Amino acid sequence: MRKNVIAGNWKMNMTPSETKAFITDLAPMVKGMDKCDIVLCVPFVDIATAVEAAKGTNIHVGAENVHFAESGAYTGEISAAMLKEIGTEYVVIGHSERRQYFGETDATVNLRTKTALKAGLKVILCLGEVKEQRLAGITDEVVSMQTKLDLAEVSAEDLKNVIIAYEPVWAIGTGLTATPEQADETCGVIRATIAKLYGAQAAEDITIQYGGSMNDGNAKELLAKVNVDGGLIGGASLKTDKFTTIVKAAN
Ligand code: PEP
Repeated sequence: MRKNVIAGNWKMNMTPSETKAFITDLAPMVKGMDKCDIVLCVPFVDIATAVEAAKGTNIHVGAENVHFAESGAYTGEISAAMLKEIGTEYVVIGHSERRQYFGETDATVNLRTKTALKAGLKVILCLGEVKEQRLAGITDEVVSMQTKLDLAEVSAEDLKNVIIAYEPVWAIGTGLTATPEQADETCGVIRATIAKLYGAQAAEDITIQYGGSMNDGNAKELLAKVNVDGGLIGGASLKTDKFTTIVKAAN
């Protein structure tokens, strides 16, 4: 039985001192909510503080990106080994903001995914269609192709450490949300693609989150859908009360 995973994506928000205060506040609020996994994906400079603050709680810590090389001449970049050594458990890869603003492609998403998995990180792999693709009726083809390209050469064993976050780009940070039916249907298409690539059991086991303006008001309905196994949450993950309401809905 797959577990719901509720992950916050803080983007470029929160300093280390704000991180410490946030987790100190959140920990008692989500205590005992163990039916879902709770992850906070935070800026690189906040990770060490987050790991320390989350010790002894049910909150896990993730990064928002990782470089695809194991080490080398990549000024300003962060490797998977660096993340691992400071206690990072998860990493978001392929977020639409990275695809849109930083030239991320399915090829680099695939490289980063393989490097992160090799280092023992759990990957939250983001994919989803842009508005024009949904309007053109090609969402299924787009997410299916992204799933195939982003997971190329990822073994069935390594897939156990991959969560897919279906994030329609038109819904991220816009206040527009996919309807529960749209989220369920497209997460279902991704699951069917996993079945083709890795078999029925892998498709049954993989966690597929929905992301895109999920909040304390709409989480329950979205999470009730059979193919939606949690959420990747941006804006609403920056407030402990809103985030806790989402965790409660998943739990
Ligand atoms: C995200 O950053 O992945 C996201 C879904 O953001 P928001 O919840 O703000 O739309």
